[in-house]
Amino acid sequence: MQYTGPLKKMLTELKFPIQYYLSLKDDFLHINQLIGQEMEICYIANECKSCRLDKPIFRMGFCKNCFFTAPEANPNIIKPELSQAHLGIETRDLAWEKEFELQPHIVYLAESGSIKVGVTREKQIPFRWIDQGADQAIVLAKTENRYEAGMIEVALKEYYADKTNWRQMLTAKADQFDLIEEKIKAKNFIPTDFQKFYVEEGEVYDFEFPVKTYLPKVKSVKLSLNKPFCGKLMGIKGQYLIFENQEVINVRGNEGKVVTIKI
Ligand SMILES: [Zn+2]
Repeated sequence: MQYTGPLKKMLTELKFPIQYYLSLKDDFLHINQLIGQEMEICYIANECKSCRLDKPIFRMGFCKNCFFTAPEANPNIIKPELSQAHLGIETRDLAWEKEFELQPHIVYLAESGSIKVGVTREKQIPFRWIDQGADQAIVLAKTENRYEAGMIEVALKEYYADKTNWRQMLTAKADQFDLIEEKIKAKNFIPTDFQKFYVEEGEVYDFEFPVKTYLPKVKSVKLSLNKPFCGKLMGIKGQYLIFENQEVINVRGNEGKVVTIKI
C-alpha cells in the first residue's frame, strides 16, 4: 500500500498505550498498527503549512516568507511572554492573536527523564504532553491568557528546563520524580503577582507510549528530498517514530514535507 501527502504532526488519543494517527490528504493511518512492520518514507516535495506552495520548508513547517509573516508562526507561539493581545497590541494579526492568546492557559511541569516547565492552552491538555513524550505531567497554574502563563514560565525557567531532552525521552521510561512534591516546591518560584493563578488541587497524569523496548541510543534522521528512508517501526513516543536500527524520525520536525509512505 502507498499513501501520499504533506506530513503533519500525528493526532493522538489518550489510551493505554497512546494511539497515534497520521492524516495524509485522503488517508488516515493508524500508526500503532504498523509497529513491527517495515516501511519506506520518501520525501518528494514541499507544502508550506500556511501558503501551501511547494517552497523549501524553513522552520516549523513554514516556508521562509510565511515563517516571518504568518500569524500562526508569530513569535508569541514560542515565547508566550511576548504576547500583547490582552493590551490590544498586534504582533502580526490582532484578530488571530486575540482568539489564540486570550483563552485559558496552563503552566505545567512534565517529566520525561528530567522535569521541564511549559505553557499550553488549556484545551491542549493532555495532547501537548503526549506530543512531548512526557511520562507524567501536572498542572501548576491556570491563567486567563497566554501572557500571564508566559510570565510564570519565564520565572520558572530559572529552575527548570523549558525544552524536552528528546534523547533522554526516547531512551528511557522515567517516573523518577514525585510531581506533587515538585509542584509544591515550584509554587515558591511563581512571582508574587501571579501567585493567584496557582492551582492547589491537581492530579498527576500518567502516559504510556507504544514502545516495547527502549533502545540504548538513538539517532535523529531528517528526511532528505528524494532519498527514501527505510526501516522497521519499533515504537512511537512523543512525535517520534522509533526504528529498529536506532534511527528516529521526528514527525513534527518534518512537517510540511510531502511524503510517500509505502508499507
Ligand atoms: Zn508559505
